[in-house]
Amino acid sequence: MATYVFGHTNPDSDSIVGAIALSYLKNQLGEDTIPTRQGDISPETEFILKKFGYEAPQLKTSYAGENVYLIDFSDIAQSPKDIKEATILGIVDHHKLGDLTTDTPLECWIRPIGCSNTVVKEMFDHYHIEIPEKLAGMMMCAILSDTVIFKSPTCTKVDTKAVKELSKICGIEDYKALAMEMFIAKSAVDGASARNLNTRDYKAFDMNGTRVGINQLEMVDISVLTPRIDELFADMQKMKEEEGLHTVLVLLTDIMKEGSQLLCISDDASKVENAFKTKLENNQAWLDGVLSRKKQVIPFLQPQF
Ligand code: MG
Ligand code: MG
Ligand code: MG
Repeated sequence: MATYVFGHTNPDSDSIVGAIALSYLKNQLGEDTIPTRQGDISPETEFILKKFGYEAPQLKTSYAGENVYLIDFSDIAQSPKDIKEATILGIVDHHKLGDLTTDTPLECWIRPIGCSNTVVKEMFDHYHIEIPEKLAGMMMCAILSDTVIFKSPTCTKVDTKAVKELSKICGIEDYKALAMEMFIAKSAVDGASARNLNTRDYKAFDMNGTRVGINQLEMVDISVLTPRIDELFADMQKMKEEEGLHTVLVLLTDIMKEGSQLLCISDDASKVENAFKTKLENNQAWLDGVLSRKKQVIPFLQPQF
């Protein structure tokens, strides 16, 4: 019986590349695993897969009765609906510990570093398994994406070291130039619907029994979205009703200005204002220096609930 390896819902590049990389490693170690994904591929991930000639993992949203490895998450809200009927063999992640539990012992590689692919790189080193050239290139891109080219406060020396080593393996010296190309691909919004934009990097969280949804768009220049703000708000309101959310946040993260424009629809916006020590104007606020949802948003918002 095959084991499936997959990342969170609304998969980002870390979830997709991580599934491919972890599955490859596990297979080298003698297991029989298949990388899968829980949702559509983002423009950024498409850029990475194309650049290194990889196919997207197959879409699979149901895992009852299957053995699974999870990468880049451990929250029920980011899991397949039937995750409780699957056997979790292991978790590889770099987020806060979520609310999944298991009935059987499992393997856990969870580190407070910039990217799950950095953890996978450490696993390859641990087992003395060589990383194929093109896979190394994809892992490097995933780390550069998650760490926002090393600018994110989540980035550690372990991540920069991993990128340098992976760049040697894949033979791409100017990895920052490649990363900029990748972020430009990621910034493409032409023709995208408000819902597509609002869910591109969307995650739902259970905050002490209250559902909060947070999307983040990391862009080279967020001003291209200024004409579409009203449309984004209207769709956020719809998402809030459809999913029974208390709060919907969208972070328009400008990776050049190094901060985020926060869009907020909430039953109690004062919780959001208190979390970020700011006043919302027209349901918006500029959060200077905020690049990371996991490190600069969740830890401040969670205690408000
Ligand atoms: Mg992720
Ligand atoms: Mg990640
Ligand atoms: Mg991210």
